[in-house]
Amino acid sequence: MHLPVLGARSAVREPREEPRWTDWRWQLANMLTTVDELATYVQLSEAERAGFAVSKTLFRVGITPYYASLMDPVHASCPIRMQAIPATAEMTIREEELRDPLGEDARNPAPSVIHKYPDRVLFLVVDRCGIYCRHCNRRRLVGGDEPPTTADLEAGLAYIAKTRRIRDVLLSGGDPLLLSTRRLDYLLGRLRAIPHVETIRIGTRLPVVCPMRIDDELCAALRKHHPLFINTHFNHVKELTPEAVRACERLVDAGIPVGNQAVLLRGVNSSVRSLRALFRALLRARVKPYYLFQGDTVIGTDHLRTPVETAQELYRQLRGYMNGMAIPQLVLDAPGGGGKVPIVPNYIESLDEREVVVRNYRGLQVSYPQPTERDCTVAYDAVQFADEPADDDSDPA
Ligand SMILES: *Cc1c(COP(=O)(O)O)cnc(C)c1O
Repeated sequence: MHLPVLGARSAVREPREEPRWTDWRWQLANMLTTVDELATYVQLSEAERAGFAVSKTLFRVGITPYYASLMDPVHASCPIRMQAIPATAEMTIREEELRDPLGEDARNPAPSVIHKYPDRVLFLVVDRCGIYCRHCNRRRLVGGDEPPTTADLEAGLAYIAKTRRIRDVLLSGGDPLLLSTRRLDYLLGRLRAIPHVETIRIGTRLPVVCPMRIDDELCAALRKHHPLFINTHFNHVKELTPEAVRACERLVDAGIPVGNQAVLLRGVNSSVRSLRALFRALLRARVKPYYLFQGDTVIGTDHLRTPVETAQELYRQLRGYMNGMAIPQLVLDAPGGGGKVPIVPNYIESLDEREVVVRNYRGLQVSYPQPTERDCTVAYDAVQFADEPADDDSDPA
């Protein structure tokens, strides 16, 4: 493998001379895991070297050569570096931080299935990723040595097939696009064959860290399983390279609506400038910003979290100032399995039966008169849906 010389400004470009650079299998087989490998891409700071030294006991490191090539070779404050290179702060563990911050292990009716909400499940089909994000909230599960077995996946499929309240299956992991195209196609086909599964979603970071994975073969396989949705995970505009944009566009061209789930990360994207640039660039790439997450309380990630008031202040500088299509829902995934809760700042000043007083993005107070009639029954519901079974809104067993 040809690698650039340490310290060269051109370090960003040279790795691309590798003849197999655009081969996703090469990218994944050659993920950087050691300090020496990474030092051929960037001038590592003392702090980063120290982070590497302690990382082995914390959470594995793994970075595709492509993603490493996006790193600022000089500045350690680079948002790509901060997401991928371990910090010694990962050793600082607060009492409130959890191994399983979202209480997923308690909602695990079958191997690799997490059933928390009434009508949808997470299906964890792989335990590896194309990057081990320093803010990962499933670090207890990914990158280990216990990948889901075929028997696990069969048990997961059996649970989904027998649980008729499940309308939506969200493939996650690990990164589901690390499965071979054939295996993924097979799995999606099995899910599609379950009559009550209406929609399928895939959560993946490969468009960000290995856009070459989104090739024609993959798109041809995916488009057979509509309605299929993909949510990806861009956190900074620097990640929206021409290759990454093309990957997203390919998916959209295959009829797959692509959304983005960003995580608010202190010092990485926690500024108005950074968030506006990210969301605008996503929309240009035809990716709809879906969620902006407040950081989860995962072990060793306190240094990457922002205060909730900061998240709200940032949100206030988005809504009204830019295309509403570019604005994600600001949510917090409540510790212990509480689920996703919107933490959008309050725009309502007062509310009673007569009027609602709202405050707009400019700070202007406006009164909205309430309607006279308060009964909102839809008479047609009784006609149209009388014989449909009611939703089961209870908690899954
Ligand atoms: C996030 C999540 C989902 C999907 O939530 P949506 O709000 O529908 O996107 C489903 N199950 C679990 C356990 C989740 O954490």
